[in-house]
Amino acid sequence: MSNLLVNTRDQQFVLFELLGIEKLFESERYRDYTKDDVLMVLNEAEKMAINVILPTLAEGDREGCHFKDGKVNVPKCYHDAYKKYVEGGWLCPMQSPDVGGQGMPSSVSIATSELLGAANFAVLMYPALTVGAAHLIEVFGTEAQKNKYMYRMYSGEWAGTMCLTEPGAGSDVGALKTTAKRLPDGTFSITGTKCFISAGDHDLTENIVHPVLARIEGDPPGTKGISIFIVPKYRVNGDGTLGEINDVHTGGIEHKMGIKGSTTAVLNFGDDGKCIGELLGNEREGMKIMFQMMNEARLNTGMQGLQTASAAFEHAVQYARERIQGNAIWEMGNPEAKPVTIVNHPDIRRKLIWMKAHIEGIRAMNYFAALCEDREKTAATDEEKAHWEGYLDLLTHVCKAYSSDKGVQICSMAMDVYGGYGYCSEYPIEQYMRDVKIATIYEGTNGIQALQLVGRQLNRRKGMNVMNLFGDIQKNIAKLKDNEGLSKYIPMLEDAANACLDLTMYFAEVGKMGEFLIPIVNASPFLEILGDVTIGHFLLQSADIASEKLAPLCADKGADTPEKLTQLAKENAEAAFYSGKVASAKFFAVNVLSGVKARCEAIKMGDKSPLEIAEEAFAF
Ligand SMILES: Cc1cc2nc3c(=O)[nH]c(=O)nc-3n(C[C@H](O)[C@H](O)[C@H](O)COP(=O)(O)OP(=O)(O)OC[C@H]3O[C@@H](n4cnc5c(N)ncnc54)[C@H](O)[C@@H]3O)c2cc1C
Repeated sequence: MSNLLVNTRDQQFVLFELLGIEKLFESERYRDYTKDDVLMVLNEAEKMAINVILPTLAEGDREGCHFKDGKVNVPKCYHDAYKKYVEGGWLCPMQSPDVGGQGMPSSVSIATSELLGAANFAVLMYPALTVGAAHLIEVFGTEAQKNKYMYRMYSGEWAGTMCLTEPGAGSDVGALKTTAKRLPDGTFSITGTKCFISAGDHDLTENIVHPVLARIEGDPPGTKGISIFIVPKYRVNGDGTLGEINDVHTGGIEHKMGIKGSTTAVLNFGDDGKCIGELLGNEREGMKIMFQMMNEARLNTGMQGLQTASAAFEHAVQYARERIQGNAIWEMGNPEAKPVTIVNHPDIRRKLIWMKAHIEGIRAMNYFAALCEDREKTAATDEEKAHWEGYLDLLTHVCKAYSSDKGVQICSMAMDVYGGYGYCSEYPIEQYMRDVKIATIYEGTNGIQALQLVGRQLNRRKGMNVMNLFGDIQKNIAKLKDNEGLSKYIPMLEDAANACLDLTMYFAEVGKMGEFLIPIVNASPFLEILGDVTIGHFLLQSADIASEKLAPLCADKGADTPEKLTQLAKENAEAAFYSGKVASAKFFAVNVLSGVKARCEAIKMGDKSPLEIAEEAFAF
C-alpha cells in the first residue's frame, strides 16, 4: 500500500536493479554497508518521515514563523520534530564517523532524503543548512574553527545558514556590499545586510553560525574580490560557552507563498560596529569555498522538486482511484451506465502516466548524480576521480533546474487530477503547489542554472564531461537494441540523443563564430532537452531491466496478451510494478523523446526574436 509519499519499491529498483549500488560496498570506504543495511535504513527513514516529519506539514504551514521583539519563533511542532530528527541520527549521516556521522554513501542518503523531504522539506531546511555550513568548516576551516563550531553544528546543538544574497545582489552575487575590515587580532569587523536568509534566525538552537560572503576593504570588485567569514550569532568564549550577541540582528522575516515554516530572514550585521567574523579559508576565495555549499544545496533543491512531486503524485493516484465521476468512455450512450472512478478516464490516465514517467526518470537521474559523488570518493586514480567529479558538476545544474521545473508541473497536474478539490486546503495538493515553487528560484534561479550549464559546463575539461554523458547514453543504447519489445522505442532515444549532441556541437560552433547569444538565449530550452534525454535514457534502461524480470512472471501465468498482462498486474504486485516501468518508458519515448529532434532543429534556426523585440513592445 502506498505511504502517500514515495514509491519505495521504485527507490529499491533504482538503487539495486538500475544503478547496482552494491558494487560500492566492495570499496574500502563503504565496506561496512550491505544491501540489508540499506533496506533497514530506508525503512527507518520511512517511519521517521511518516511519524515525525509528516505531522509538521499542514500544522507548520498554518502556524508559520513569527517575528516579535527582534526574535523569530518557528512553528511549535518543529521543535519536537527537530529534536527527534537529530536524536535519530538523520542530521549528517553522510559525514565521517570521526565528526559524528555514519559514513553513509550519498546514493543511500539521497533515498532517505527523498522520503523525509516528501513529508515536509520546509522543516528539513534547518538541519540541511546546518550540515552544509558545518561541512564548509570541516573542509576549509582551521582546527581551532572546527573545535569551536563544527562539532556543535554536526551534533545539532547549533545551526547554520548560507549568507550570500543582498538587496542589490541576488543572481549577481559579485555586486555584494557587505564589507570586512581587518582588526588587529586577525579577525574582521563585518558590516552589511543580507536578505532572504533561510534559517537566518529561529528558536530551534541556542546559537546560529553564519557563513557570510563579504569583501575585505580594498579588495577588487566582482566575485574575485569576495571572501567568506564565519559569523556566529552569539560569540563563543574560550571555554566554549556562549558570550554576548555578536551584533547580528534580525531585521524581519518574509511572508511567503509557501514553505511557511522555514524562516526567511533579513540579517543586519554590524549595525553597532561590533560584529566579528573569522576568515574561512584564504582571502578572496569566498566564492570558490561557498560553491561547495551551493552545489550541495543545488542537489538538495532539485530533490525538493522530486520529493514534493512524488507526494503530490501518490496522492493524485489515490484520489483518482476513489473519486467517482462520469461514465466510462466505452459506455457512451448507455443510459444504464454506472459512474466510474476517474482513473478510468483516458485524460486522467494520461496525466498520471506523464507524472509517473517524469518522477521515475528524475529519481533515477538524481540518485545517479549521488552515485557519481560516491564514485568520486572511491575512485582509484586521479583520472577516474576527475571523471566522476565532472559528471557530477554537469548533472548538478540539470538535477536542480529540471527536477524543480518538472516538480512544479507535476504538482500542477496533480491538482488537475483533483479538480476543484485540489485547489482547496482540505487536501494537501494546494500546499504542495505553493511549497514546491521556491525550488525553481533559490540556489540560483533555473534561468541562471541553464546559463551556467551552457556557459561553463559544456566546455569544462574540453567538453569531456558532456561527452562522457553522451558516450554512456550511446553505449547503453547499443545494449538496449537487443530488446525486441522495445525496438520501436530505442530509435526514439537514439534520435533524441543524437539531436541533443548535435545541438551541443552547434552551440560550440556558433560560439566560435561570435554568435554566442544563440546558446545564451536558448540555454533554458537546452537544459530541458538535456534533462529529457538523460531521464529518457534511464527510463528505457529501466524498461529493459523490467521487461526481463517481467518475462518469467508472464510465462509462468500464461500472460501472453496485453489483456492477460493487465489481469496479472491486478493479482501480482511485482508484475504490476515491472509492467508499469515498461509503460512509463514507452510513454516517455513516444510523447517526449520523439519531439526532441524538432525542438533541437528549432533552436538551430538561430532565432533571436527575444533579443530583437523592442523592450517597449512588451509594455502594451
Ligand atoms: C524563500 C527564499 C529563501 C532563500 N534562501 C536563501 C539563503 O538561504 N541564502 C541566500 O543567500 N539567498 C537565499 N535566497 C535568495 C535567492 O537565492 C535569490 O532570490 C535568487 O538567487 C534570485 O535573486 P533575486 O531574488 O535577487 O532575483 P534577481 O537576481 O533580481 O533575478 C530576477 C530574474 O532575473 C533573472 N536574471 C538575473 N540576472 C540574470 C542574468 N545575468 N541573466 C539572465 N537572467 C538573469 C533571474 O533568473 C530571475 O528570473 C532565498 C530566496 C527565497 C525567496
